[in-house]
Amino acid sequence: MKNWAGNVEYSTHDVRHPTTPAEVAEIVAAVDAADGQLKALGSRHSFSLIADTAGTLVALDELVVEPTLQLGDDGVAVSVRVGAGSTYAQVGAFLAANDLALPNLASLPHISVAGAVQTGTHGSGVRNGSLASSVLALEIVRASGQLEIVREHDPDFAASVVGLGALGIVTAVTLRVQPHFEVAQHVHEGLPWAAALSNWSAIMSGGYSVSVFTTFQGENTHQIWSKRRPDVDGPEVDLVALGATEASVTVHPLPGVAADSVTAQLREPGPWNERLAHFRSEFQPSHGEEIQSEYLIPAEHAVAAITALRAIGDRIAPLLHVSELRSVAADTAWLSPSYARDSLAIHFTWKPLPEAILAVLPLIEHTLEPFAPRPHWGKVATMSPAGLARAYPRLGDFAAHVRRVDPAGRFMNPYLKRVLPHD
Ligand SMILES: Cc1cc2nc3c(=O)[nH]c(=O)nc-3n(C[C@H](O)[C@H](O)[C@H](O)COP(=O)(O)OP(=O)(O)OC[C@H]3O[C@@H](n4cnc5c(N)ncnc54)[C@H](O)[C@@H]3O)c2cc1C
Repeated sequence: MKNWAGNVEYSTHDVRHPTTPAEVAEIVAAVDAADGQLKALGSRHSFSLIADTAGTLVALDELVVEPTLQLGDDGVAVSVRVGAGSTYAQVGAFLAANDLALPNLASLPHISVAGAVQTGTHGSGVRNGSLASSVLALEIVRASGQLEIVREHDPDFAASVVGLGALGIVTAVTLRVQPHFEVAQHVHEGLPWAAALSNWSAIMSGGYSVSVFTTFQGENTHQIWSKRRPDVDGPEVDLVALGATEASVTVHPLPGVAADSVTAQLREPGPWNERLAHFRSEFQPSHGEEIQSEYLIPAEHAVAAITALRAIGDRIAPLLHVSELRSVAADTAWLSPSYARDSLAIHFTWKPLPEAILAVLPLIEHTLEPFAPRPHWGKVATMSPAGLARAYPRLGDFAAHVRRVDPAGRFMNPYLKRVLPHD
């Protein structure tokens, strides 16, 4: 079995599909008793080897946990408990039908909730934290087969939410919810880089969720997607006055790809769950023939980092479908790429050229080094373990936590052995 992109072939044929949390616990206890190893598997959208194992893969795609709302004292819903393998498309539809919302989504709603939060997945927005920042509780089957609930104010919570699948198998996640809201999305094309960089903070703050697409080559940005909330956003930045053109037809972020898979644009208002992702759940997201990488740096270094990447644009652009620049607000999860710092996320959607990508990533990482880049756990990076330990200040604490909750290393795999510091 392979991941969604086809660049990872999992090292096992032992793939289980439990339908209940009790079945998950039975599988884990049996693997523990047999001295084996296992990993949870979400919707297989990671590009790194993070989900791989030579032991047992526990896929959560058939787990049935009906979504349930928890109400506050005033009778208003405050949270929703969902199955770990539920996709954001499923959760979004359930919440929208109940007049509720999550604050944000990633670029695609196809990913599982647990898989997304365990890797620190994010969308965009200067005031929007990663998807993990909506988590209030995780129900985790530990290596012994015991089910534990880790809640927001528990001491282990900050270590657990972005847990890289190293702490056990999450069977259910409780997410903070808010009242339903509408979003209208529009796209500008060809904003000159000079104008983009001299107005960077205003542009990124000029909508609820803003993405800048580029290849780091040439004098103009490719596209700027603005997802605006009329109920909270201030006046928008006049990008036309800065030299851009507003798209008059719906466009795909990847040059040459048909636009039928993207969420509605052209300022047509609609429910949050049909606008905040770029791609519609019923279509293939992105390109499909691709590999992805991403690095998060402190937001205050955005202009310097983009300028440095433009200087090596001729090395990057030939391998790219496109790059995307987004904002992520600081959060408190130890291994979140936006832990304790408001961030610029610099994403690369590469053509499927694995060797050439592995050759250019060290140059990108070296170029970003002055800005302390943190690679996305679910995407391809070449950073050394020492570099990761510098970038993620709580990585050593996290590794110690993993040893405490999984002393026999049941949820370890070669990826985790490489990235986690040893005693
Ligand atoms: C087209 C495309 C677009 C993307 N867009 C974005 C984006 O906008 N923003 C972004 O940040 N990322 C993005 N990603 C990356 C993606 O969000 C992450 O790789 C995410 O982890 C995928 O979730 P998944 O369910 O597929 O996880 P998987 O790849 O299946 O697993 C990832 C990790 O989570 C663990 N895991 C999964 N389920 C559980 C569980 N129940 N309990 C414990 N651990 C678990 C696995 O063991 C593994 O370690 C994109 C990926 C693709 C393919």
